[in-house]
Amino acid sequence: MIESVLIANRGEIACRIIKTARRLGVRTIAVYSEADAGAPHVRLADEAVLIGPAPARESYLVADRILAAAKATGAAAIHPGYGFLSENAQFAQAVIDAGLVWVGPPPSAILAMGLKDAAKALMQKAGVPVTPGYLGQDQDPERLRREADAIGYPVLIKAVAGGGGKGMRKVERGEDFDAALTSCRREAAASFGDDRVLIEKYITRPRHIEVQVFADRHGQVVHLFERDCSVQRRHQKVIEEAPAPGMTQAARAAVTEAAVRAARAVNYEGAGTIEFIADGSEGLQPDRIWFMEMNTRLQVEHPVTEKVTGQDLVEWQLRVASGEPLPLKQDEITLTGWAMEARLYAESPEAGFLPSTGPLRRFRLPHDVRIDTGVEEGGEVTPFYDPMIAKLIVSGPTRQAAARRLAKACRAVEVYPVKTNAGFLARVLDHPDFLSGTADTGFIERHAEALVPAAAAPPAAAQQAAARLRVARSAGVSADPWRGAVGFRIGGPRPIVVALKARDEILQVTIDDQPAPEAVLIDDAYVAFVDGEAHGFGEPRVSGALDGGVAGGGVLSPMPGKVVALLVEAGASVELGQPLITVEAMKMEHTLTAPVAGVVAEALARVGDQVTEGQLLVRLEKVD
Ligand code: ADP
Ligand code: ADP
Ligand code: MG
Repeated sequence: MIESVLIANRGEIACRIIKTARRLGVRTIAVYSEADAGAPHVRLADEAVLIGPAPARESYLVADRILAAAKATGAAAIHPGYGFLSENAQFAQAVIDAGLVWVGPPPSAILAMGLKDAAKALMQKAGVPVTPGYLGQDQDPERLRREADAIGYPVLIKAVAGGGGKGMRKVERGEDFDAALTSCRREAAASFGDDRVLIEKYITRPRHIEVQVFADRHGQVVHLFERDCSVQRRHQKVIEEAPAPGMTQAARAAVTEAAVRAARAVNYEGAGTIEFIADGSEGLQPDRIWFMEMNTRLQVEHPVTEKVTGQDLVEWQLRVASGEPLPLKQDEITLTGWAMEARLYAESPEAGFLPSTGPLRRFRLPHDVRIDTGVEEGGEVTPFYDPMIAKLIVSGPTRQAAARRLAKACRAVEVYPVKTNAGFLARVLDHPDFLSGTADTGFIERHAEALVPAAAAPPAAAQQAAARLRVARSAGVSADPWRGAVGFRIGGPRPIVVALKARDEILQVTIDDQPAPEAVLIDDAYVAFVDGEAHGFGEPRVSGALDGGVAGGGVLSPMPGKVVALLVEAGASVELGQPLITVEAMKMEHTLTAPVAGVVAEALARVGDQVTEGQLLVRLEKVD
């Protein structure tokens, strides 16, 4: 095993790699930009080296700085993670030339798969089915247009050097082709410095199916089954799972065999992913799955494969890079249960998925699922890098079970004031079309209205939660829950009756007799987290005064109204939550309950009395 590894990356993937390396006793070296000086990956590593200013082009993408850092720290190997320099063959070669171990495939394999047209041509030769289309060198717009016409619309124009969902245009009709080509070329030139394109038939009901492959230096190539990454937004994956829903034995055999053949064709080594596009209009058919591209690195969504196979793919990478044989043979690799991953992005779905940056005053993710993240509470999301701030990964015995768990985990996300897509993710996971297992890549767009609710008034639950906190604070409950026990009313479109109840040292709050969600005070805002979304409220306007002098607990009228029933007498012992008095207003009856268990010290109102908002109606006393 290599003695040490430098991780040429940041964020969640750097943390992820460091964890496995540490477990294997491999010394870890992080690199970081000025913007990441306080980032978790820097602290997690045994050593860390500053490699430049915030922009990636001046730090994480500068090969020489990274090589210098490796030299200075005596690193034995470099792991590139994904993105950045991971698929840069020149960098891989430079690492090898510097006498270091490159934790990745041979530069020749990266090169062979680097351009989509050359890769497709190569795959075609190796007998791997590829999407029908035009791969020619002739880039004359007239020629491209004729090829598109011949393929038949819709077609997809793709930058041959493209990646990350960029440099792609779907063209529905011949008359739109020229404009789409021009804009695709412009984007390709700007993003990849190469404006060449290929044209593919646009597959109907497209499902993204990919196969995890692994190869070692000793000629072994295996696959670790497939993943389905069809839930995408603008060609970017949002939810991934393993296995693929509806996968048949025949289709799996076809796709995994093709993937292994593809890896062999380029003398692959290490972790790789072969991406296929499937026509899902009639389920997954073995003859309707085509090679799309190969990603010659560890994939963002590798954890779902880890969950269903029980393997640590980063460990496999480090072993293979050290020259060891693959840990398992093909027939020893098993698939158990179902795994799902959701990508948590710092973005605002309501605002057209605009990236959201700023301090993470609150960053709490559920503890009972796997979380891969590279940020923490108190940290910051800067505008310099990818907006993905965490991955939530679950598994379960069935697809339904996994989806339910993941939806629950997404709803439990508490992030503020940076906005996230957590609520959106939960709605995707709850959607019947997703649960049916037939979602294609058009799923999000098709259901945008249901998945992305317009920025409207916060839900009642959020308002209630904020009300809860306001009352708790006004009542000074932290000092003595008993003293603060009150019935109370918060103004708004509809009066809300809030009761604080102390039981077993735990403060319970009910609002209109329903348990209220919690809210927290963050800086000067009351923030309620409801189903993955954060709702911030300004300094509260509390209507109705609290009688701080009430010893024990009291019940105040939530609104101006008439007492229609008095349910207890002075001296009566009451249970927590026991109905005490009923007030009528706006043709509605509100029964106020005991905020604490105790004894009725005084009933201050009678049936028929007109009472005002905030008027003390019943006073309770604690019994020792
Ligand atoms: P995956 O299939 O693993 O999701 P992607 O192609 O979406 O892979 O890319 C993985 C990561 O690398 C993403 O964070 C993406 O933003 C980044 N990335 C991919 N290609 C490029 C590129 N050409 N330039 C910059 N970043 C890229
Ligand atoms: P990138 O390098 O940006 O990841 P890909 O070639 O992998 O580019 O395509 C990204 C996504 O675009 C796919 O996951 C799929 O959703 C969609 N896509 C690609 N090719 C086709 C096609 N021929 N028909 C329909 N959708 C496609
Ligand atoms: Mg891709």
